[in-house]
Parts: sequence; C-alpha cells; structure tokens
Amino acid sequence: MSADQEHSTCSGTAPDLHLSEAFISLGNLRHNLATIRAAIKPTCRIMGIVKANAYGHGAPEITAALEQEGVRDFGVANIQEAIELKQSYRMQADSRVLAFASPLVQQIGLYLRHDVEMTVCDHETAIAGEAEASAAGKKLRVQVKVDTGMGRLGVTPEEAASLLETIDRSPHLELTGIYTHFAESHIPDGFTALQLERFLQVTGAYERASGKNVLKHAANSGAIICLPDSALDMVRPGILLYGCHPLDSKPSTLPVRPVMQFQCRVIFVKEVAAGTTISYNRTWSAPDRRRIATISAGYADGFHRTLSNRATVFINGRTYHQVGTVTMDQTMVDLGDDLSVSVGDAVVLFGWEGPTAGQQAIAAGTISYELLCAVSRRVRRVFV
Ligand SMILES: *Cc1c(COP(=O)(O)O)cnc(C)c1O
Repeated sequence: MSADQEHSTCSGTAPDLHLSEAFISLGNLRHNLATIRAAIKPTCRIMGIVKANAYGHGAPEITAALEQEGVRDFGVANIQEAIELKQSYRMQADSRVLAFASPLVQQIGLYLRHDVEMTVCDHETAIAGEAEASAAGKKLRVQVKVDTGMGRLGVTPEEAASLLETIDRSPHLELTGIYTHFAESHIPDGFTALQLERFLQVTGAYERASGKNVLKHAANSGAIICLPDSALDMVRPGILLYGCHPLDSKPSTLPVRPVMQFQCRVIFVKEVAAGTTISYNRTWSAPDRRRIATISAGYADGFHRTLSNRATVFINGRTYHQVGTVTMDQTMVDLGDDLSVSVGDAVVLFGWEGPTAGQQAIAAGTISYELLCAVSRRVRRVFV
C-alpha cells in the first residue's frame, strides 16, 4: 500500500499502475486461520483448501502464508492444479497435497511423479493405481472418498468396506485418509447429521476390522460452524479462510475478515441530461441531470453481468449505485450530483471496505465463492 493514499482504499502507484487490482491481505488470512483454529480442538488438523487458484487469491502465495502458520495439508481440485501449485512454489518437505477429483487412469502416473495424494472412489482406480505404483517401484498415497449424500464423487457406504480391503491388500498403495463431503453443511440437523452418521459407520467398521487408525475428515466451512462434531481429525475450510461466510444471507458469528479487496479505477466522468440512456440495451436512463462515472472493470474482470443495475460500489468512502448493463471491460456508476469523484479515483467492487463479496453475490444472484473465483487473470493480484 502506498503512503500517499487519501483514504484507506488500497492505491497502487505508477509506473506499474494497473486499472484493476485485487489486493490480498495475508494478515486477514492469518487472522481467519487463527479464528478457525480457536473454534476447533487443538489436535484437529486444518487442510487449507487452495483449489481454483485459492478461490482466486493466488494459490502459491496463499499456500506459502498458510505453511508459515504451520498448515501442512492442502486440498486442490485435481492433479493439474496440484502440479501447477508444486511447480509455482517450492512447498515444505512435509506438506501434503490431496487432489479431490477422481482421476482418469491415464493420470495416475502424474500422482506418483509429483507426489500428490490421490482420491479413490472405485475398485478400478485402486487396481490401476496398484499396477502403476508397482511398475514405478513406488508407494502411491491414496485417500478414499465416501459419498454419504453429496451425490458427486465417492464410493457408496455399502461398497466402502470392500474398496478399503482392496487397498489394504495392495502393497503399493498407502491409505492416508478417508473423507466425505457435505451437501448442505450450513444446516446442522437432519441431512448433515445423517451424512456424518453414515460416514462414521464406514470408518468405525474399517477401523475395527483392520485394527488401524486412519485420518478421517469431513467438515468444510459450513460444517465447522454448524456441526462442530464433524471436525473429526481434520477440517477442510475454504471460504472461511478467505473471509466470507458459507451462507451469504446469514453471516456466521465467526469474526473472519475478507482477504480480497477487488478494486478498479474511475477512468471517465461525464454529466448527462435527463433521459440519457446508459450502456447496452439501454436498461437505465437518467431521471434527471446526473454525473456518471465509467469505471475500469467489467465482466471479463470478474464483475458479473448479472450485477447490472443491482450492484453498489464504494468510491472515496461513499456508496454509489452501478447503472446500466455491465459490459466486458467497463461499467457505469451513478454519482448523482456529487462533484467529489474524479478520474483516477479507486473504486472498491468488494472487499474489507464497501460491499462484501457476500453482499455483492446476493445482488448478482450467486454466492461469494463464484465472485471470488471469477476475478480474472487480467486483474493484478497485489499482496499486502
Ligand atoms: C471446496 C471443498 C471444500 C471447501 O469448502 P468451503 O465451503 O469453501 O469450506 C472442502 N472439501 C472439498 C472436498 C471441497 O471440494
């Protein structure tokens, strides 16, 4: 952050001034991690979820910051993301990366080569994994995913025992965990509790039959808040780490802080007469004489087109309505008769000032997760 800022809004300085920037507060990330730690038992591990480029925040930098705070477990969507992360940042030797996707058989060699933990949901993958690992003369670390009700990936609870047996009989497979994922974790009773019960039946039966202890994990952010009993041996927070709440319409009491502040700039200001229409399809017209600012972000930057005529933005400490259709590269803002805004001023689209990503998500008819992930490559990330 530069020293010459008039307001607390982050302002980049020339010569490498970017019109659209996402300021990433690693201090707020550390605060959120500490907040999550305080909410779980001290023996419970935390897997930092850094899929989708750490929800748009920058996976290498977020991973490094979490490692500094002692996190050693990381979750990504698939093997490609795992390889990208490992190639962009030299992780601690004792850090482990789990890829959540069920792999294609052709990808198994990559898990061995890059030392990534593989999710196993069926016998075919376990058998192919054993064959690959044996041929490579290596051990392949695997985690079994149980589908207790998410309906996305995983072995059914009924078939889990036989899959686990297959893995235990495979000399080149090492079982490092069993996990499941909740479908509506923000609702503690009913289905989430049922999913947890189904999961504990599977893991309990396995541990009794095998005489082994295995790492068990289930809780995403929603479950950390709503169903503390689901924390088990490890929790897997994503959105909470990034300072948003699992349910935008009902922020939890956990005092997390936004990690990203998405900003752009005022690049043009004009005054229009009553009746002047603004942007594509002329969805807004000035009710009277207005000052209109054009700002430097559109849907290609991640400012969703569904926000058209619905969003508010924050400039120099004040809130303004966005007007007209959001375009690919620019968006218009109604300044009313306000003379204080000028070209070059920073505009907060969401963050620790102005609207939160959650509030903007409600306006866009989506969830904060999607708005964070949508912040595109042409928006420069600035770590503060
Ligand atoms: C994305 C994801 C998470 C994190 O979810 P949040 O709601 O962001 O906490 C945890 N586990 C799995 C398997 C996931 O895919």
